[in-house]
Amino acid sequence: MYVNVALPVPLMQTFTYAVPSSLAQQAQPGTRALVPFRHRERIGLIMEQTETPPNITGRVKTLSELCDKSPLCDDIMLELLQWISRYYMAPIGEVCRAALPSAFFRRAALARKSRIGLAHMTDVETLDSVPIVFTAAQQQAIDHSQRLLGECLFHTTLLHGVTGSGKTEVYLATMEAAIKQGRQALFMLPEIGLTPQLLARVTAHFPDRVALYHSGLTEAQRVEQWLRLHTGAADICCGTRSAIFAPLHNLGCIIVDEEHDGAYKQEESPRYHARDVAVVRAKLSGALALLGSATPSLETYHNVERKKYHYLSLPDRPTGGPLPEVMLVDMRKEPTSNDASGLFSRPLLQALDANLQAGEQTILFLNRRGFSQLLLCRDCGAIFRCPDCDIALTLHRRVAELRCHYCEFSIPRPTTCRECGATHLKAMGSGTERIEDALLEHFPQVSIARFDRDTTTARGARQQLLRDMHSGKTEILIGTQMITKGHDFPGVTLVGIMQADLSLYLPDFRASERTFQLLTQVAGRAGRRNKPGRVIVQTFTPEHYSLLAAQSHNYMTFVAKEETHRRELGYPPYGKLINVRCTSNSESKAASFAQGLRDALSRVTVGGTLDVSIVGPAPAPRAKLAGRHRWQLLLKMKNAADMRKVSEAIATHTTNQTESGVQVAVDVDPLHLL
Ligand code: ADP
Ligand code: ZN
Repeated sequence: MYVNVALPVPLMQTFTYAVPSSLAQQAQPGTRALVPFRHRERIGLIMEQTETPPNITGRVKTLSELCDKSPLCDDIMLELLQWISRYYMAPIGEVCRAALPSAFFRRAALARKSRIGLAHMTDVETLDSVPIVFTAAQQQAIDHSQRLLGECLFHTTLLHGVTGSGKTEVYLATMEAAIKQGRQALFMLPEIGLTPQLLARVTAHFPDRVALYHSGLTEAQRVEQWLRLHTGAADICCGTRSAIFAPLHNLGCIIVDEEHDGAYKQEESPRYHARDVAVVRAKLSGALALLGSATPSLETYHNVERKKYHYLSLPDRPTGGPLPEVMLVDMRKEPTSNDASGLFSRPLLQALDANLQAGEQTILFLNRRGFSQLLLCRDCGAIFRCPDCDIALTLHRRVAELRCHYCEFSIPRPTTCRECGATHLKAMGSGTERIEDALLEHFPQVSIARFDRDTTTARGARQQLLRDMHSGKTEILIGTQMITKGHDFPGVTLVGIMQADLSLYLPDFRASERTFQLLTQVAGRAGRRNKPGRVIVQTFTPEHYSLLAAQSHNYMTFVAKEETHRRELGYPPYGKLINVRCTSNSESKAASFAQGLRDALSRVTVGGTLDVSIVGPAPAPRAKLAGRHRWQLLLKMKNAADMRKVSEAIATHTTNQTESGVQVAVDVDPLHLL
C-alpha cells in the first residue's frame, strides 16, 4: 500500500511513500506522517491511500512513522484543502500548513510533551444583558435560518443589515439553533482584537463552549484551542481568517460577519478568500452559510441577483435611532489656507464646536497615520523616498522619524536635503498626527486621543483608548480605518471624514466600492441608542456617486452605478481575474519573465476557445517593494471554466521556466491590484 503525502514545501504535487504493513491500518488520510524527504525527515499530511506505486525509477521510499493515532482532518476538510489548492493554484503542502497549527509540522513540537496553559482570552468586558424582543425583521431572519438548518442542506444567505440593525442577535440565534441540533457553529470575524464587545457577547451567550482562533494566539494556545474543537470540548469557534480551517466535524452553520472586509483575503500563499472558502466548506458540509454586512461586496450581491444566495435585510435600527445625517462639504469652495486650519472646513469646525459645547463625543477619520505624507525640499524639490520601495517616506513627528509604510524602513528625521543640502524642508500632506496637532491648537482644553497603528501597538494601549472613549473622558478621537470596524461608541454624535478623496482615487477598480464601504461604516459609528448622529464628509468631488450613495444611505443606488462600470470593463463580478506578479531584484528579469508568460498565454488563447484578455505586462502600481521590482500581468476571463485552463497554462509555463531569480505569485480573485 502507498500513501500520497502533502509536505510543507512550495511544490504543487504530493509525494508517494510506501506504507509498512504494520502501519497500514493507521495510515488513514488526514493523519500526519514522518517521511524521508531530501536527506532529512519531515512531517506531512496523508491526503489519500493508493494501490498504485509512483511512476518513478528507483526505489520508492517508505514512511518512517505516523504521528497521530487517528486522523486530524476529516474527509470534508481534506476535500476542502484540495479545492483550495486547485482553485487558488497554491501548493497543497502550503495549504495544509495554513490549515493546521504550525506546531503540528515541527518535529521538536512533536517530541515535547505539550505544555498547554489556559488560553488567555482577549479582555472580555462585562455586559449589561438587557432582555431583547426581536424585531419583525430579526425574527424573520432567525426563522429562515432555523428552517434551513432543519433541512440540513447547504444554503447561502446574505444578511444585509444597516449598521446597528442587530445582526449579531440573528447570528447568536442561528448558532444556538445549530448547537441544539447537536451540530457546531463557526463564527468568522475580520479582526478579533478590534471587536472585544462582539466577542464578549458571543462568549457570554455560550459560556464555556467557545474556542477562539486567531493570529494573536501563542502557539501553545493555538494548539489548545484546536484540540478543544477537535475533541468536541468546544462546539463554537470564533475566529479570523484561519478559523475557516477549524476542526469542527459536524458543522451546522458558518457565519461570516462583515463579509465585504478585505481582511478575509490572505495576501500570501495560499491566497485564499475565507468568505469564499466558507461557502465551499458549507457546501461540502451540508451547512448553512450566513454572510452579514451593512455594505455587501459586489460579488456577494451579484450572487443574490443570480439567485445563488438568499437575501434577507434588516433595514432599521431596533433601538429606534435613525441613521446619521450625512453632509458633503465641497472643499473647492472652502477658503485655502497654508496653515493647519486649512484642514478643517467651516461646517466641520462649527459642528465640532457645537458638539464640544453640548458635551458630546466626536470621531475624526483620516486614513493616513503619521504627520505628513512626504518631506519635500523647498529649494530643489527632492523628496525623501524609501530606498527599497521607492515611495515617499512618511514623517512621524512624535518620534522624529521618516518611515516607509510598506516595509517599515525608517531613518531619523533629517534636517537637510540629501540632494542639495538645503535646510528648507516642507512637510506636505496630512496624517493623523497633524490633525491632532491642529486640533490641540484650536481646542487647547479639550481631551483628544489618536487611534491608529502607532498608538495601539503597545500592550494594553488599545484597551485604554477604548475605555477612555466609553467613559466619555476622550472628547475627540482621531483615527484611521482601525476605528471603522465594529466599535459601538454610544456617546459619539459627530463623525468628521477629513479627506474622502484619499481612498477614492487609488489606482484600483475597487476604489469606489471601498470608499462607499468605508464611509458607510464610519458613519455607522455615529449616533447609536436614540441620539441622532451627524457625519461631515470633506471632499473635492462631492458629485461622486460613491459619496452621494453613502450620503443617502442607499446601497442599491451605489450597486446599480458600480455594476454598470464593472460590466463595461469586465471586472468582477462580471468576470474573473487572475493577477500574476513577477518579482525580482533585477527589473529586466522581472519584465522579461512577465513578457514570456504573456507570449505563452497568447499562444494558448489565440485560436483556442479561451476567452481571455491579457492586460500588461506592466510594472505594478507599487513598482518596487522591499527591494524587489514588481511586474504584473492581469488576466480577465468570462467564466470559471476558462479560469481553470488559464491556471494550467500558467502552471506549465512557470514550471518549465528555469530562469532563476524571478518569483512568481499567482493571485486568483485578487482583492488589490497595487
Ligand atoms: P450590527 O451588528 O447590525 O451593527 P448589533 O447587533 O451590534 O448591530 O446591534 C446594535 C445594538 O442594538 C446593540 O446594542 C444591540 O444590543 C441592540 N439590539 C439588537 N437587537 C435589538 C432588539 N431587538 N431590541 C433592542 N435592542 C436591540
Ligand atoms: Zn519601504
